[in-house]
This record gives sequence, C-alpha cells and structure tokens, in this order.
Amino acid sequence: MSANLDEAVAAWQTLLGADQVILGEAVPAIYGMDASGVERRVPAALRVLNVELVADAIRIAHQYRVAVYPLSTGHNWGYGTAMPAQDDCVIVDLSALNRILHFDAGLGVVTVEPGVTQGMLARFLDEGGHDYMVPVTGAGPNCSLLGNALERGYGVTPYTDHFGAVTDIEAVLADGSVYRSALREAGNEDLARLFKWGIGPYLNGLFTQSGFGVVTRMSILLAKRPESIKVCLFSLKDDALLEPAVERIQAILRKLPGTVGAINLMNRHRVLAMSAPYPWGQLDARGLIPVELVESMGRQYQILPWTGFATLYGTQRIVAAAQAEIRQTLKGVASRVLFFSEAQTLRLAKWASWIPGQTGQRLAKTAGTLAKSLELVGGRPNETALPLAYWRNPRPFIGEHRDPSRDGCGLMWFAPLVPMRADGVRRFVEMVKEVAPKHGMEPLITLTTLSDKVFDSTVPLVFDLSKEEQLDQARACRKQLWHRGSSIGCFPYRVGVDDMAELSTRHPAASELLAKLQQAIAPGIGLAPGRYR
Ligand SMILES: Cc1cc2nc3c(=O)[nH]c(=O)nc-3n(C[C@H](O)[C@H](O)[C@H](O)COP(=O)(O)OP(=O)(O)OC[C@H]3O[C@@H](n4cnc5c(N)ncnc54)[C@H](O)[C@@H]3O)c2cc1C
Repeated sequence: MSANLDEAVAAWQTLLGADQVILGEAVPAIYGMDASGVERRVPAALRVLNVELVADAIRIAHQYRVAVYPLSTGHNWGYGTAMPAQDDCVIVDLSALNRILHFDAGLGVVTVEPGVTQGMLARFLDEGGHDYMVPVTGAGPNCSLLGNALERGYGVTPYTDHFGAVTDIEAVLADGSVYRSALREAGNEDLARLFKWGIGPYLNGLFTQSGFGVVTRMSILLAKRPESIKVCLFSLKDDALLEPAVERIQAILRKLPGTVGAINLMNRHRVLAMSAPYPWGQLDARGLIPVELVESMGRQYQILPWTGFATLYGTQRIVAAAQAEIRQTLKGVASRVLFFSEAQTLRLAKWASWIPGQTGQRLAKTAGTLAKSLELVGGRPNETALPLAYWRNPRPFIGEHRDPSRDGCGLMWFAPLVPMRADGVRRFVEMVKEVAPKHGMEPLITLTTLSDKVFDSTVPLVFDLSKEEQLDQARACRKQLWHRGSSIGCFPYRVGVDDMAELSTRHPAASELLAKLQQAIAPGIGLAPGRYR
C-alpha cells in the first residue's frame, strides 16, 4: 500500500470501525467475483453502516488522494458486478444503508437509501397494504433500486425507464460536500419528491452513469397497481414476418399509450434459453447448438422463430378493449395471440400438473414460468429471469438465491439502442446472428420497446466462465458486436466496466467536460475514475 493509502485506511478505521475496513485477501473474496471475468486491483473496501459517515469517508479519500468507487448492492451482473472501472480504487459499499426514509402512500413516492432492494420495497408495500408496484427488473429481488436507476436500467412495469421515475437525489461530492436538488434546498422537499425537473439547470442527471457523486438517497415515483394486469403472448411462425411485426408493434404503442407497457420480441434461441436445458452432448464443432437442433427443440417446446410478450395495464374494460385492438393490429402477422392474467396462469399451471407424461411436465413448466412472469409484470420481484445466466454453466445451481457472479456463471451484455425501423431492425438481427456464432456464442436476442421510436436490445453472451478460451471469445464477441452495431446505427445504452475506456474515446469532449467538473470540485483523483468517461 502507498503511504497515502496507509494513512487513509487508518483514518477510515477510526471513522467507520476497524471491522468495516476490509483489506487483503478478503477484498477479492467478497467483491472480486464477476460473471464477465473482470479483474481489478482493489486495495480495500469500506462498509458504511451509517449515512452520516459517508461525507467524512469521502473527505478522507479526497484528503489522501485515494480514488474511491461507490456501490449500492454491487450486483451489476454482466457489466462488471462490483468491480471498479479502473485499478486501485477503494470500494465504498453502501449496501448496509437500507432504510426506506419516506413514503407518501397517497401519491406513491418512496425515498430510499442505496441498499434498499426490490425485495425490501416489495415487503414494505405488502406489509403496509400499499397497492403500488416495485420497479422490478430481471435481476431479481436482491438488487438495489437506487443502483439500478443510477445505471438507467429499465424493466417491464409501467414506469419502464427507471431513472425516468426518479425525482429527488442527495449525493456527496468528491470533496465531501453535500448536493441536494435545488427545489429541496429551497425548502420544498415535498415538491422535490414529486417533480422530476426541480428548478434551474437539471443537475440530478449528472449523477447517473457517471460516479459524479456518492448518491445517498433517492426519491422514486411508483406506479399504482391497476385493476387489471395482463400479458399478451404472440408468435411469428416465420422469420420473414419480423419486419411487419416491428411495424405492428409500433402501431400498438401509438394506439394504446399508457395501456400497453413494454413489448418484448425474442428470437427462438432466447426463448429456448428460458424454457429448455442447454443440450450438452449434442453440440456441433463450434460448441454451439446446431441449426437443425434449434428447430427441433423449437418444435418440441412449441417455440416459433419469434415470440412477443406485451404488458397491459388498466381497468378491466380498458384492458378488454385493448385486447381487441391488439388482436386486430397483429392480424395476418402474428399467430397464437393469447392473453393471460395472473389468475389464469395459475389455473393453467394447476391443470397442466394433472396432465400425465412429458407433455404435462413441459406445459406445467411453461405455465409456471408464465405465472412468475405475471408476478414480475405486476411489480412483485422474483428470480424467474436469472436462470438465463446459468444456461451454459455446466455446474448445477444449488442454493436458495441465485447470484450469477458468485455461482461462476459467464455473462456479458451487449445492450444497444435500435431505432424502430423495420429494415434497420432486420440489419441488426442479421448482424447478431452472424457475429455471435463466429465467436462461439449463441445468438440470444431480445428487443424491448422503450417508446414507439426505439428498442433497447439485450444480447446476453452466456458462456462457461471456467474455460479461458470462452471468456476470450465472449470478450471478442462483445467488441465486435459493438463495432458492427455502431456501423449500422445501433449503440449501447449502457456498458460494462471493461468498455468504459473505449467509450470515452468515442465522446472525448463530453468526457472532458465531466472530468473538468470533477476537477473543479475536487482536484486530484476523484470519484469512480474512468466510469463512463
Ligand atoms: C439475468 C439477468 C437479468 C437482468 N435484468 C435486468 C433488467 O431487466 N434491467 C436492468 O436494468 N438490469 C438487469 N440486469 C443487470 C443488473 O444485474 C441490474 O441492473 C442490477 O440492478 C445492477 O446491480 P445493483 O442494483 O446491485 O447496482 P450496483 O451494482 O450497486 O450499481 C451499479 C453501478 O452504479 C454505480 N452506483 C451504484 N450505487 C451508487 C451510489 N450510491 N452512488 C454513486 N454511484 C453508484 C456504481 O458505478 C455501480 O457499479 C440483469 C442481470 C441478469 C444477470
């Protein structure tokens, strides 16, 4: 350790308690596991047990010129998990700050500390009988609401864009001073919680995808759970129907804003990854599922080339009317258009369990997954999406809660924005289908509507992390997808820590501005160096 670091560690031990300053081998043992194979030199980690201590902890870092890297729950799986963007940063773990500071039951606004997870908010809402939805993601109940919103993550509930629902923010800056939004500072805390833009220049955005400050509290608007929640499932029986399907999806969103949440379109590979075990032992020379086997598994599991999944929210009458509109709009393009409420999926799962043999088992599994998906759509977090990360992990999952990084899964995301133009979507899909298999990766594609203008696609690269060559292939694949994607107008909405350095070369002036702002506040090393800059 450098002399500066020694002195900072001694000061932190006095401030936080010696047990809360983690050193040596314990640091990688707790924070070093990462599904995307990122390794960093992390000299220490601080566990902050009291929010009052955050500013002093950051002041110490500033005084001794030690770089720090804040985390909420540190489950940024597929993007670097808890690993900082650069070597030699001290992790500031805020997961123990898990108080729900304020809840407005009438208007549905919650103010949380960094360690409050989706699961904790779900319990709080249930226990209080508050009929609001948790802004869930596929990452499950043990992930931070605040960490996800700062990364501008998204989900399937009506407030799809999680940072979009964030109003007030409080953060500690790199010199230990405290930022509060202008409206709150001017004595209008209630309004600051309700109105995103506050007054004056919009500064809250500076704290997202940046590490510009250590965010210690955040207010989030929650969507009220409506009278009726349904999902619409549909299929495209031919890959050639992708282009018209994109146009119909756009038409649905334009006709039914506010009633239809997000619409997901998934290719057969992606749906198989949720429905069927990975067919080890039947792979081709590239170590991938042969094309004919994908087709026969599709027949076996009743999965057509594309599957659509839309969410509907409203009163019973509005949802019923929306169903009719959707059916009409998808006519001639989609087949097997089905609508389910949670109660219907639970009944289906029960009936399926009475059907004997493999057909019954398969149907029961599908109905069970559907019921879990409806739970998610209703704003109740669960782990139903997490098995995806385990698909190509040959070691079986044993335990209660899934944690892909802890469990040695290999996962990286390529998550680009894709304009909602049919020809461009086709170019994007063909590009992924070409690039992924060349690098030994299954082409798993989801397109999620962020609006009627743009999709976000998530392409998970799942691989066996215990095989060095697969990790290298996944890295090369991610780079290639990024390069080829940007050449056709698709660029990530979010990247992992290993891609930050390259990202900053793509927008040098924007990176420089952020660096100048940081330097103006605290000359020296600063907070989360290299993160999105
Ligand atoms: C199968 C699967 C499905 C997934 N589905 C989704 C999905 O649907 N939507 C989605 O968005 N993600 C998804 N993820 C990705 C990821 O796991 C989640 O986004 C997760 O919520 C991020 O981890 P976290 O909440 O622990 O945040 P953290 O890891 O704590 O935070 C993320 C980053 O934000 C910054 N940060 C965190 N807290 C602070 C703070 N207090 N102050 C300053 N900076 C901070 C840090 O740089 C940190 O690295 C999925 C992952 C898997 C494996």
